[in-house]
Amino acid sequence: MAGKSTETTARYTTIKVRLYPTPEQAGLFEKTFGCCRWLWNRMLADQQRFYLETGAHFIPTPAKYKTAAPFLKEVDNQALIQEHNRLSQAFRAFFKNPDAFGHPRFKRKKDGRDSFTACNHVFSSGPTIYTTRDGIRMTKAGIVPARFHRRPLGWWKLKRITVERTPTGKYFCSILYACETRKPRQVPVTPERTLGLQYSLKHFYAADDGTLADPPRWLVQSQNRLAELQRRMSRMRPGSGNYREAVRKYRLLHEHIANQRRDFVHKESRRIANAWDAVCMRADNLNDMKTAFGGPLGSGYGMFRECLGRKLEDQGKRLILVDRYAPSARTCSVCGAAGDASEQRWTCPACGTVHRREVNAARNIKAQGLAQCRLSAFSGEAQRGADSPSSSNCRPEHR
Ligand SMILES: [Zn+2]
Repeated sequence: MAGKSTETTARYTTIKVRLYPTPEQAGLFEKTFGCCRWLWNRMLADQQRFYLETGAHFIPTPAKYKTAAPFLKEVDNQALIQEHNRLSQAFRAFFKNPDAFGHPRFKRKKDGRDSFTACNHVFSSGPTIYTTRDGIRMTKAGIVPARFHRRPLGWWKLKRITVERTPTGKYFCSILYACETRKPRQVPVTPERTLGLQYSLKHFYAADDGTLADPPRWLVQSQNRLAELQRRMSRMRPGSGNYREAVRKYRLLHEHIANQRRDFVHKESRRIANAWDAVCMRADNLNDMKTAFGGPLGSGYGMFRECLGRKLEDQGKRLILVDRYAPSARTCSVCGAAGDASEQRWTCPACGTVHRREVNAARNIKAQGLAQCRLSAFSGEAQRGADSPSSSNCRPEHR
């Protein structure tokens, strides 16, 4: 499949907006969350019972429950159907790969995060879900006031919405759009226009040209405030008024930091994707990265990589992922000898070059990425596809 510029590809984009529901609408949302949770748990319990009795996998449809549980009729039927789809999907993933995806679990109210999803249907009378100047029209709730920071383009098609309540009690709506775009022309990979990146605990990343991304000071500051708040909470009596107040503050700050981090990640990835033609990074597993990488932005690095991959791909550029076990930090990027890279700065025993550890690692990542690229061009492998990470994490609703 040669990338001609006239070809189009189906793409999806999410716009996330804050909702300001009326008390009645908020009440309906709460009812919908509750019904979805109830339905999920009932379908899961019935699946388990049925499986024990017959050995076959079967999930009853939402319609089956409506006679015995008439309250289900009060909420958007679409949300219930989606709940059934989600559970079926969870089981499909589990059957396919039980180690990676565990058995679907029961939902508890105290888990804190509640959401429901509804698909848009376009009838001759018009779509069931659409946006207005300052709101979103939903099936049962009517027009819910919302604040938009971004607007969909004219030809985008609204596919579905997900309404959620955060632990701090705010309502958000993620609107998924299908937007057909022209496939960009493939940008060739050249050493001069390629950047190598290495994760850095202190600086977030180090680039092969010696630049370090310093996470903004305010992000580090709020992170310190969070740790301080946590220490204070550990000295309080759980359940006391002070404790509840501290929990409220903690949640707000936590949410604030997540927003700051997302903002930083989007801006950094945009800057790099526009400035370079290709980027090499390590193919670390995203789940490992979340736990292994500390620092003020530790969990943001996986998200950064996905955002960057998507932004490069949009411009016909490549994110080249190199083997996570490839030597990087300890190998001299000038002569290839191994050295002791336990210090921030180290001197190569063979050629005498003084290295900054993380920058040296970034240089090795770039060299390996370019070699991989030449190899795949040589063997005629398709350049696209295998290297691009999944894009789910880049969507703004993911936290
Ligand atoms: Zn050397």
